[in-house]
Amino acid sequence: DATFNYGEALQKAIMFYEFQRSGDLPDNKRDNWRADSGLTDGSDVGLDLTGGWYDAGDHVKFNLPMAYTQTMLAWSVYEDRDALEESGQLSYMLDDIKWVSDYLMKCHPEPNVFYYQVGDGGLDHSWWGPAEVMQMKRPSYKVDLSNPGSAVVGEAAAALASASVIFKDTDPTYAATCLKHAKELFTFADTTKSDKGYTAADGYYNSWSGFYDELSWSGVWLYIATGDKAYLNKAEGYVANWGTEPQSTTISYKWAQNWDDVHNGACLLLAELTNKAIYKDAIEMHLDYWTTGYNGNRVNYTPKGLAWLSEWGSLRYATTTAFLAGVYSDWSGCTASKVDTYRNFAKQQINYALGSTGRSFEVGFGTNSPEHPHHRTAHSSWADSQTVPTNHRHTIYGALVGGPGKDDSYTDSIANYVNNEIACDYNAGFVGALTKMYKWYGGTPIANFTAIEEKTNDEFFVEAGVNATGPNFIEIKALLNNRSGWPAKVGDKLSFKYFIDISEAVKNGYTASDLTISTNYNSGATVSKLLPWDEANNIYYVNVDFTGTKIYPGGQSAYRKEIQFRIAGPISTSFWDNKNDFSFTDISNVSSGNVVKTTYIPVYDAGVKVYGNEP
Ligand code: BGC
Ligand code: CA
Repeated sequence: DATFNYGEALQKAIMFYEFQRSGDLPDNKRDNWRADSGLTDGSDVGLDLTGGWYDAGDHVKFNLPMAYTQTMLAWSVYEDRDALEESGQLSYMLDDIKWVSDYLMKCHPEPNVFYYQVGDGGLDHSWWGPAEVMQMKRPSYKVDLSNPGSAVVGEAAAALASASVIFKDTDPTYAATCLKHAKELFTFADTTKSDKGYTAADGYYNSWSGFYDELSWSGVWLYIATGDKAYLNKAEGYVANWGTEPQSTTISYKWAQNWDDVHNGACLLLAELTNKAIYKDAIEMHLDYWTTGYNGNRVNYTPKGLAWLSEWGSLRYATTTAFLAGVYSDWSGCTASKVDTYRNFAKQQINYALGSTGRSFEVGFGTNSPEHPHHRTAHSSWADSQTVPTNHRHTIYGALVGGPGKDDSYTDSIANYVNNEIACDYNAGFVGALTKMYKWYGGTPIANFTAIEEKTNDEFFVEAGVNATGPNFIEIKALLNNRSGWPAKVGDKLSFKYFIDISEAVKNGYTASDLTISTNYNSGATVSKLLPWDEANNIYYVNVDFTGTKIYPGGQSAYRKEIQFRIAGPISTSFWDNKNDFSFTDISNVSSGNVVKTTYIPVYDAGVKVYGNEP
């Protein structure tokens, strides 16, 4: 008895990762608003580091949360491959995983070198626009033997080991390649045992919990991938180094599986693999803390029933723990009396995320879902502004937003990255938990679902007005706009034509060559002389060509470029007449200094008309 359509929620949550992709996108993509981006990533260090995912509502590629997310998705496949297959979502899930495992291998050019980040948090966050047109520098950062980073390298080892596990049957060659990298990365992380060189993510994704959890986690995944006990011994050997509750030797149980601390995941898998009490007790303690309480300690619950750990991204902790509860409750070793408690918890938390309080927190799913998530490319501002346009131009289906505060409060505000951002790691456990819901309660994905959108604005156009007129001239002010969004695109071959009718000059004995063109203000165009269009009817045009000047939807002075040009006759005469000019049609009544959007000044991209009409 499904309360929600878990099949649809799952399908969209998986699709979310397609919108986060960086690099050269495949032709079979299911939307019309994402395109290639970050194509020069790695060029600063002479490598191809294209690919991977943008982290969240920004465009940095942070490999710690990215590798964590990939591992969590692979865990879900490892756990519930059949359910994913039955839902029709397995192939999308595998594509999502491979998108990252491909990238992580590019980041590992030598056994003891790993590039752990592309992009600079500060530079990246100071600009608000779509990924396709970003212009900031995107430096690449590495760890190596002298400046190591065991947490991020260990997490990458876990990711590639888990990828090798799930690709083993369908693509053994690829699985073997993943495994080779995973082994080398594990050795690198295990040999160095230090996060000293992992510095570029400071303030964003620090390794707060250290690296022993990642070493156990990657050891477990390598053991699953290889069956080699040496990896299991490694994994178990580091359990003593995991974080503990203050003043005790009790394994810490009051937080949640997350990008920084994966010991709960490692613990759960160790319980399944070894059936040892130490792991079973620890994971049950953790799940009890989130459900019935352990020793009188229980996570906070909001009045409406969200298990609430922390303000920033509260739903990600609840839904990730729902996944762990689901996995553990599905294992035969779970204490029988706890199975229902853990399952009910998982369902209740997922239902909260999907709308049990009257609003959904998954974008594009259910009732009253978020419309203003903190996400640059989904908002798709052309003006480098969170308030322009008022509404997001794109629906980023399936993204789980950060979620409510302690008292269930939530406002759907673009500026609020604490409660309303979306992120790769937020959806990771969410996908796994939704797969459990689908498996337990059923649901129906939407057939042939795509994210192909209708355009809600003209992408290219000219706004024009009359700057000045005189007895023998007209001066036009024109702004060539690029507000592209399907997808956003840098224009560096944009031009427009301004058409005039010179019949009155001809009647008075002049020719086109007697009329001169001059520019008053010019932000990067080449302006032609008067060129013939339809000579027999005296129709000529001025070609205003911005080739070589980037006009792109990325800021106030970037998305439109201005030109002021004057068309003048030889002497003061009385024959001058603008009214028969094609391109004058809309602007005749515009008051001086103002501009209007007009279809009578057509726009071209690389010579191909993209807006407006010709005479
Ligand atoms: C970015 C977010 C980020 C936050 C905190 C904001 O400027 O848009 O992506 O989570 O800063 O770093
Ligand atoms: Ca850690």
